[in-house]
Amino acid sequence: MSNAVGGTEARQGGPVDPPPTLERRGRELFMEELSLRELALRFGTPLYVYSLRAVETKVRAFRQAFAGVDLLLAYSVKANGNLALLSRFARLGLGADIVSGGELFRALKAGIPGSKIFFAGVGKTDQELEEALDARIRAFHVETTAELYRLEELARRKGVRAPFGVRINPDILPSTHEYIRTGQAQSKFGLAVPIAVGLYRWAASRPHLVPRGIDVHIGSQIVDPAPYKRALRSVLEVVRLLAKEGIRLEYVDLGGGFGISYDGVGMDLGELGAELVPLLEGSGLTLVLEPGRALVGEAGVLLTRVLAVKRAGSKTFVITDAGMTELLRPSHYGAYHPIRPVVEAEGREVCTVDVVGPVCETGDFLARDRQIPLPRAGEFLVVEAAGAYGFVMASNYNARLRPAEVVVEGNQAFLARERETYEDLVRGERILDPCPRPAP
Ligand SMILES: *Cc1c(COP(=O)(O)O)cnc(C)c1O
Repeated sequence: MSNAVGGTEARQGGPVDPPPTLERRGRELFMEELSLRELALRFGTPLYVYSLRAVETKVRAFRQAFAGVDLLLAYSVKANGNLALLSRFARLGLGADIVSGGELFRALKAGIPGSKIFFAGVGKTDQELEEALDARIRAFHVETTAELYRLEELARRKGVRAPFGVRINPDILPSTHEYIRTGQAQSKFGLAVPIAVGLYRWAASRPHLVPRGIDVHIGSQIVDPAPYKRALRSVLEVVRLLAKEGIRLEYVDLGGGFGISYDGVGMDLGELGAELVPLLEGSGLTLVLEPGRALVGEAGVLLTRVLAVKRAGSKTFVITDAGMTELLRPSHYGAYHPIRPVVEAEGREVCTVDVVGPVCETGDFLARDRQIPLPRAGEFLVVEAAGAYGFVMASNYNARLRPAEVVVEGNQAFLARERETYEDLVRGERILDPCPRPAP
């Protein structure tokens, strides 16, 4: 599969203008006012770099597309939890969609108020539920009946009221990679509508529970508005049914999953808004959206240095200092990321190469059978559209140091996260006593 997660059927979307993340000036690529080559030299590689202008462009695009409704964007922290980005989202008035106590900690630390935080996830622990109750979050998105019972119990013990919405499973199958489809009946996510309705009815009589909204998340990297429209119709039916029984919800949450352009095809947000807004107008409901990838994916790149070029039989390998430990998506999902030289060199032959990392796994690659101008050792490559599910999935496998992250705004570069050190690798570990005492 050569394309983004999704493969060939993910073609209903239109060509959309990606945000102005990179621009070629002369022979060099720039992010905003800064040369990528200079950033790579200054901060070292592998290096993640994010453009705040590109992020803000996407936030504006969502707000324009949904201008007709009361919109709350709850950024999905799991796509990229860097505090610098989160703090900018806080300043722009965004909320957060979180899936763990760790993400709650990050969101609060970055200044996102509890009143704009939604807690999703199929397996929340009591400790996580309590932390989120203490943070007075906007709502828990409940995914099992047991979770709602536990939530009620914990809220009662604390003497507080727990706001919640049920994540329903509308049995919608969007055209996307099977690992990131989440809205089918057979998926572990969400609850069937009849079960959800039963839970709202039960909760309506419980003094420590507040039914506040309804949630659905159908998958990721979806470029067609149609499944969102179907999902919205499903949740609105439930909202109306509950309203007839006196259970009034404040919001409908359509989750995230809005596709970006890895290969020229992404979700057209204007079209999405045009499809959804008419269904909501006059309803008095707030629309919550939880974009992750769509806000940060195209805004970020991974810079890497070529360590060697090696021919083996008929194949040519470009070996880089970044691989699956920095960007897992190609080896995990077969995902496609554009790769280009940072500086255009003259007279290079365009070759079909595999771009591979230094990790001791055959599956360690950034691209396979890719046509690029053949680089030389020491030169830099840029892996594009790497701002989402990039650093957050980085690992220390092979005792590799996780890379630094830099945020760019205009002509300023801000080191948002330092590169790890060897000491970071062993933090919290203990060496066995070399002369253990014999057991008594
Ligand atoms: C992962 C996730 C998102 C964000 O998905 P993207 O594809 O990054 O937009 C939003 N909501 C929930 C519940 C999720 O699990």
